[in-house]
Amino acid sequence: GPVEHECQLLVLGSGPGGYSAAFRAADLGMKTILVERYSTLGGVCLNVGCIPSKALLHTAAVMEEVKAMSSHGISYGEPQVNLDALRAHKDAVIGQLTSGLAGMAKARKVQTIRGVGVFLDANHLEVTLTEGSGWDLTTKKEVVRFEKAIIAAGSQSVVLPFLPVDPRVVDSTGALKLSSIPKRMLVIGGGIIGLEMATVYSSLGAKIDIVELSNTLMAGADRDLVKVWEKMNLSRFNQVMLNTSAASATAKEDGIWVQFKGDKAPSDAQCYDLVLVAVGRTPNGKKIAANQAGVLVDERGFIPVDQQMRTNVAHIFAIGDIVGQPMLAHKAVHEGHVAAEAANGLKSYFEVKQIPSVAYTDPEVAWAGLTEEQCKEKGIAYTKGLFPWAASGRAIANGRSEGFTKLLFDEATHRIIGGGIVGTNAGDLIGEVCLAIEMGADAVDIGKTIHPHPTLGESVGLAAEVAHGSCTDLP
Ligand code: FAD
Repeated sequence: GPVEHECQLLVLGSGPGGYSAAFRAADLGMKTILVERYSTLGGVCLNVGCIPSKALLHTAAVMEEVKAMSSHGISYGEPQVNLDALRAHKDAVIGQLTSGLAGMAKARKVQTIRGVGVFLDANHLEVTLTEGSGWDLTTKKEVVRFEKAIIAAGSQSVVLPFLPVDPRVVDSTGALKLSSIPKRMLVIGGGIIGLEMATVYSSLGAKIDIVELSNTLMAGADRDLVKVWEKMNLSRFNQVMLNTSAASATAKEDGIWVQFKGDKAPSDAQCYDLVLVAVGRTPNGKKIAANQAGVLVDERGFIPVDQQMRTNVAHIFAIGDIVGQPMLAHKAVHEGHVAAEAANGLKSYFEVKQIPSVAYTDPEVAWAGLTEEQCKEKGIAYTKGLFPWAASGRAIANGRSEGFTKLLFDEATHRIIGGGIVGTNAGDLIGEVCLAIEMGADAVDIGKTIHPHPTLGESVGLAAEVAHGSCTDLP
């Protein structure tokens, strides 16, 4: 058939993985085409993920902080929520970033084609062009011939088949649309995304139930960190049902009636105005006809890759959510750079010592490297340095001294192997721990580094000093 476009490198999907790969490849001189079905670049992260959620979480955090000001002698009235204006603010944030990406693509002469791509063979992709603001398919198809390809088609929310198809049953994308503020809301799934959305909606006034199948919220984080979050947050929710699942649901005029089963299941069905399903994400590997290119996709839809992000087909790479956990934007970006460089013939490898995780809740919970739970599981001997923010002058001045900073060191080498922080701005603070782990810093390196006083960041240096056994009483 006819070929409408030719390139050295095709990138399928324009999320953080895809755009990072396309831009790096173009900077290295490759003629690059980026195929994206949505009308804007940036994928899940910019359009319906990291960025809109953080715009709303910032608003929620400020609302909570303003309430707390009454104990500082400053009082405000009840918040007046203008949902249209809040939505417009969030959309403006997205618009600024996605149009910035479009400009960066143009500046690098990365050609973008808007449509849904499927592989025809190992050197051709067929794109069904899309139009409108969503991804309405047109009848027009164009074929791209490529020398090399990077698959960055991402993931989507897991759907619970027993829930009714109803506008009041949404995934994170639906919740971020902010169509209305429900009186009663159910969040199914107590992971990071569910808890972040619960934070936003509870600040806006929704009465929220959270149901979680396992025995813990925010799985993956050390319990001592999560406990601090729980202490501050459990009172803002109506109930948190652990070891419990949503078993069935019926859409009625007055709401979605959900029946539960498990430890904390209420005996009667409960009625909700909004049900958010946040039980995980599933990779898009089965939707791109990868088999026609000879690319292996596992039964869950993940594409196996080597340390250069190469699939089983030597000139086709894959990155981001579609290659596995953790499904995080910063992982996708770094994998994108490796894949683009490897596609260009460079000896780049994805060899990292840590990938941080952050729950942008209030307070934030952040961790990097090994957790204490992982150290125990793996039988790794470690020394712990914990600095409570109750001893941080800045945290006290902020009225937010509930947090702590914890660093873990290899007992034999004293090198840092992990760290966790709970408290305001923990997500920003964890960056130093990430750098320390990558650089192989030890407790003395971190403890002897002069941190500015008075900052929350000092807590990292002080936690290292605690581990090193020479705690100062600086605050
Ligand atoms: P994606 O961002 O999923 O992008 C894939 C792109 O490919 C999409 O634009 C899609 O339209 C396109 N595509 C797919 N198939 C085709 C096709 N056949 N043809 C054409 N185009 C196609 N991560 C963080 O690190 N920090 C956070 O704070 C954070 N918050 C999140 C909050 C929410 C609510 C959600 C849902 C996710 C969040 N994530 C966060 C996860 C983050 O969004 C993902 O890890 C990241 O977007 C993955 O990037 P990616 O490049 O692999 O794919």
